[in-house]
Amino acid sequence: MPIIKLENIRHSYKVGSGSLLVLKGIDLSIEQGEFVAIMGPSGSGKSTLLQILGLLERPSQGKYFLLGKDVSDLSDDEGASLRSKTIGFVFQMFNLLSRTSAVDNVLLPAIYSGNAVPISKAKELLADVGLQDREEHKPNQLSGGQQQRVAIARSLINSPKIIFADEPTGNLASDQAEEILRKLSELNARGITVIMVTHEPDIAAYAKRIIKIKDGAIQSDEKNLNPKGFVSEKSAVPPSLNGNDYSHLPPKLSLLEIKENSLSALRAISANKTRSFLSVLGILIGVCSVIAMLAIGRGAQKSIEARISGLGSNLIMIWPFSSSAFHGGTGSVSRLSIPDVEEISHLSSHIIAVNGEVSGSAQVVYKDKNTNTEVDGDMTSFAPMHSDEPYYGRFFTQEENDEVARVAVLGQTVVNNLFGKADPVGKRIKINRVSFEVIGILPPKGSSAWHDQDDVIVIPLKTAMMRLGLNGWGGSIGHGGRYLNRMEVECDTPQSIDGVMSKIKTFLRTRHHLPAYKDDDFTVRNMQDIQSALTGTTKTFGILLGIVAAISILVGGIGIMNIMLVSVTERTREIGLRKAVGAPRRAILTQFLIESAFLSLLGGTIGVLLGIGISFMMTHYAGWSAIVTPQSILLAFGCSAMIGIVFGFWPARKASLLSPIEALRYE
Ligand code: ADP
Ligand code: MG
Repeated sequence: MPIIKLENIRHSYKVGSGSLLVLKGIDLSIEQGEFVAIMGPSGSGKSTLLQILGLLERPSQGKYFLLGKDVSDLSDDEGASLRSKTIGFVFQMFNLLSRTSAVDNVLLPAIYSGNAVPISKAKELLADVGLQDREEHKPNQLSGGQQQRVAIARSLINSPKIIFADEPTGNLASDQAEEILRKLSELNARGITVIMVTHEPDIAAYAKRIIKIKDGAIQSDEKNLNPKGFVSEKSAVPPSLNGNDYSHLPPKLSLLEIKENSLSALRAISANKTRSFLSVLGILIGVCSVIAMLAIGRGAQKSIEARISGLGSNLIMIWPFSSSAFHGGTGSVSRLSIPDVEEISHLSSHIIAVNGEVSGSAQVVYKDKNTNTEVDGDMTSFAPMHSDEPYYGRFFTQEENDEVARVAVLGQTVVNNLFGKADPVGKRIKINRVSFEVIGILPPKGSSAWHDQDDVIVIPLKTAMMRLGLNGWGGSIGHGGRYLNRMEVECDTPQSIDGVMSKIKTFLRTRHHLPAYKDDDFTVRNMQDIQSALTGTTKTFGILLGIVAAISILVGGIGIMNIMLVSVTERTREIGLRKAVGAPRRAILTQFLIESAFLSLLGGTIGVLLGIGISFMMTHYAGWSAIVTPQSILLAFGCSAMIGIVFGFWPARKASLLSPIEALRYE
């Protein structure tokens, strides 16, 4: 049985709207162990014939039997599988992978064959072509002849039965050409069928059979009884017809393949550092801002939670304006006064404490230091209600409030700003030019992006109103304080809160002479209300964050997709070669998906590091609490790998669908 049998093979190319008939009925039969040269003038169809023989192109018409099996109509992947197991290619242009060592180039077809080939075999093959000391050389560090010898070693890695060589010496000087031809003769002597295309008689002279074609038809077919560089047959191993060769299933993804793909991705990325960096910038910025914003949001939430938990849950707050004004809209404003506090405290036996507060901002001076801060006037009940007992010094007393004493309790930030490390208790400071004695320091409560809870001074309510003229809403400016900004009521049990709230509402409506059809001109809230309002804010924040993340993911993904399309176009010839040596579609798809995943993970990693850095700096230099959680890091990594795979899919699929021979011819 001949190893190759062609029956009336015709082939035409589509050119424009017509078609060009290039092979016009070729009948050919080649036996195992032959060394055939196909000769003919340029354009006669030699390469086309060789591509059909090498399963790189399907004939338009006719039958092709390879190793006795009809292969005229194989699918792409079946062709790849059969090529990988039975065929070795040597091309005129060498087609080695750039930036890849000689030994890795030789090993390339092995990763697609599905059988484990040890690296020692690649080294042996290189030694066999005289390149034992060039294993680690890259193609650009080798001469043309050496590159072609690497290509021959590569064609042998899967122990092929046939080697196809298209003008293998076309790009070489004559002495180098001779080496290559001797090598082919030697391989033929070992039992491998060699089919070589050339247009030079000198070169065809090495073959044992010379077929001349012209205009797509065989003109002559003669034995060469005296081949040049003849090597007497050594241990001719007749190629076995192994049933395994016809397996139509492309090999599964192997560890070796993943390793090769990863290295090749890293080489491609590091060969274009600036370009790669610019293309992952979108993902980088997106991931970085998501990490930083999640950290700030988490920090803010924590400090709000800490503040609320310090308040105790049985608290009711009252503001002298309607709830629509509370939310920033227009609404009616009323007044809350000290007598109101007094009366409300008697409304129910469930009320255990009340507090009235005025607040404003003031200029505070100590010696040559000054700062602008919030000044709150409170009753003595403030400290226990808010778990705000000074950790150093003391709070003011009822007597001090009644006597309008000028005593102040400072928050930690004010202490830092005015006193640094010095002890403030007993010192005198000026608040809006009024002298006060510092009597204590409030426990630190922390700060978030939008509020520093420690930037505050607490003084007695009466002092604030009468000495500093602080006044709440509803009071007229300049007449000394009479009205409060806020009132707080503490109940004994959570169950009594609702009852107390409705009593307060009734009281205030009566007090303000509100007819039934008018809305409240005040707002009463308990801690549950406030907590759920804050949770709502956090949710809004989360949605905003999600939108930012989605936009940056989209932009980042398009960046990746764009650069992968460029990469696929640039490496079209490489894709052609990989397919020619046996890579199925799946393998090309995986290769480019791995590359885009690497690329976007690179962006993700830099983004995560930068995001952590920014959160750290905000905590340490701006004093905001920003908390980076492991979940947000995992999320960022997961997202960026996913972006790479999703947005890399289209370019990778495009690459996998290329026809090997068109890709190899790509300019
Ligand atoms: P040879 O290798 O003998 O020089 P080829 O087999 O490469 O010739 O080409 C044979 C003819 O087919 C040429 O006339 C060439 O122009 C044409 N041809 C080759 N490849 C294509 C193609 N992909 N599309 C259209 N025409 C082609
Ligand atoms: Mg040609």
